[in-house]
Amino acid sequence: MKIAGQVSLSDLPRICPLLCRKTHPEYGETDTRVVEVRGVRFGGERPVVIGGPCAVESQEQTLNVARGVRRAGADMLRGGAYKPRTSPHDFQGTGRDGLRILSDAREETGLPVVTEAMDTRLVEQVAEFADMIQIGSRNMQNYPLLAEAGRAGKPVLLKRGMAASLVEWLGAAEYIAQQGNLDIVLCERGIKAFAGGEYSRYVLDLNVIPAVRAHTFLPVIVDPSHATGVAAMVEPASRAALEFGSQGLIIEVSDPSSARPQCDAVQSIDPDTLASIVRFAHARADSSVEKESFA
Ligand code: PEP
Ligand code: MN
Repeated sequence: MKIAGQVSLSDLPRICPLLCRKTHPEYGETDTRVVEVRGVRFGGERPVVIGGPCAVESQEQTLNVARGVRRAGADMLRGGAYKPRTSPHDFQGTGRDGLRILSDAREETGLPVVTEAMDTRLVEQVAEFADMIQIGSRNMQNYPLLAEAGRAGKPVLLKRGMAASLVEWLGAAEYIAQQGNLDIVLCERGIKAFAGGEYSRYVLDLNVIPAVRAHTFLPVIVDPSHATGVAAMVEPASRAALEFGSQGLIIEVSDPSSARPQCDAVQSIDPDTLASIVRFAHARADSSVEKESFA
């Protein structure tokens, strides 16, 4: 029986001809297209580590965390100025003020900034301040938003929808590419599966990483913070992600000596733990181990 809308990985050359390995033999079976964000190279020799708060809450909080992220040896700063929250009564972010704070943090630390654009009407504003535009899991199939982000002239970090198949995820990336922007980094951030909040927030789909790398030349990174929702799981999940071929990590970090974050406090790690993850990532990349596994 034929079912409407049923697609499989063999349909990728039709669904995403701009991104698919099959339609781009110039990348061979394993080459990655390097995406550069102010000198930081996704898909380059070493994995890219991004750290920062869940939300930009204040200048002091963000600068403190940004300093910790830089000291840890990470490459980029994250932080949401506009936050997608389950309840409209919860803290929604600091908006334009938050974007200014992020650019101050970049000025001081030299770390390039990635932050989320939730709405087509805000893409231009986010692009004005950010070095990379994040599309959140909840918006992965917001096609007008993907097109707008593709036109904004900045690299895009495309998080996987929490219930999206690989074909749907790559199809979403194609909407960005169609605007002439191939500077796209994919991010696995956990999917809705059995864990359902009982022992972790989502299920980190490590298995998708080698599949992404087999089917597209775009770099792929992992968000172990939202995938697990548990601070103690972030470091082991990061190591596992790298073993599976992840080309980077995006991690929520908070400063233990400051006020508790309003958003995702229990999954945030301290800068020392981030430093330990960075050391592992670099040591692994610099050794020959990588060549023996998926990556
Ligand atoms: C985030 O990274 O700030 C975030 C909200 O993540 P996700 O879209 O993956 O839930
Ligand atoms: Mn968060």
